[in-house]
Amino acid sequence: MAKSLTVIVPCYNEEAVLHESYRRLSGVLAGLEGPSEIIFVNDGSTDATGSILAGLAAADRRVKVLSFSRNFGHQKAVTAGINHCTTDLAVIIDADLQDPPELIPDLVRTLEDNHAQGVYCVRKTRKGESRFKLWTAKIFYRFLNFFSEVRLPVDAGDFRLIDRSIIRVFNQMHEQGKYVRGLIAWTGFHQVPFYYEREARFAGETKYPLSKMVRLATTSMLYFSKKPLMIATALGFVSVAFALLYGLWAVLGHWLGFTHADAGWTSLVVLIVFFGGVQLLTIGIMGAYIGNLFDEMKRRPEYVIEEKLNF
Ligand code: UDP
Ligand code: MG
Repeated sequence: MAKSLTVIVPCYNEEAVLHESYRRLSGVLAGLEGPSEIIFVNDGSTDATGSILAGLAAADRRVKVLSFSRNFGHQKAVTAGINHCTTDLAVIIDADLQDPPELIPDLVRTLEDNHAQGVYCVRKTRKGESRFKLWTAKIFYRFLNFFSEVRLPVDAGDFRLIDRSIIRVFNQMHEQGKYVRGLIAWTGFHQVPFYYEREARFAGETKYPLSKMVRLATTSMLYFSKKPLMIATALGFVSVAFALLYGLWAVLGHWLGFTHADAGWTSLVVLIVFFGGVQLLTIGIMGAYIGNLFDEMKRRPEYVIEEKLNF
């Protein structure tokens, strides 16, 4: 029997693209064998996104809408979509049509041909994005993989197809700091890549300013690795070894007369700056983990839904 499918679309201030996204998505879904629906997650948009989605939901029963009470962020929007999905399969896709909806049938076919539980889309090329974004993204994925304790696919965003076995495990994860694509990889189910060309944004501008990119990068790093903590320890060892050697040199120099104690200003400044830096860095790394513990401990809901349509 043909499998049922949900398309999950996080939307933050996407008034410029939503009509076109819906048109192209519903065209693709009409061609699928099984039943399908779309869950738009309105992530606290401040433009006309909410009213456009309400209009789409009123005209089409298969359009479901979850509206957050404020902006909770892309990863929370995707999480809410997965949490509310009841079908066999789910596709996560951006609203801006950078990920072509026309690939969905190919993703389903790839999943079935490979007897896989997930298909993740790997960008061969990315059009219409700044050199800075391409460059930072490239470094980010390599860097994260080096640190991570789970193998994470490189150059793959959240555009992907997952089946019920992954959805079920995902719904058991209640951490606040969610790096969705990392958690999906973590489940360990058989997942295969699908290579595609990433288009330019259909309209509007990116909703991922540098601050959100940095937040995503830190979340993924801190939630998928304890290596930064080990690096802090390693730095401590290195600086202690260095200090011992330097101290020995200074004491011996004093006794044997090859250092000039009163000419030591430069070395003092260098030492203070160096050890001050090492200490602040390691305290900062620990602070980042403690901050996350603090957030996790409070067990607040991950997102707040203000309105549901067609559920
Ligand atoms: N998005 C969201 N909440 C946010 C930021 C972005 O739901 O706080 C959505 C956005 O509407 C889009 C997707 O996440 O559907 C990816 O955002 P965008 O296309 O702006 O990021 P980029 O492709 O530039 O990295
Ligand atoms: Mg985009």
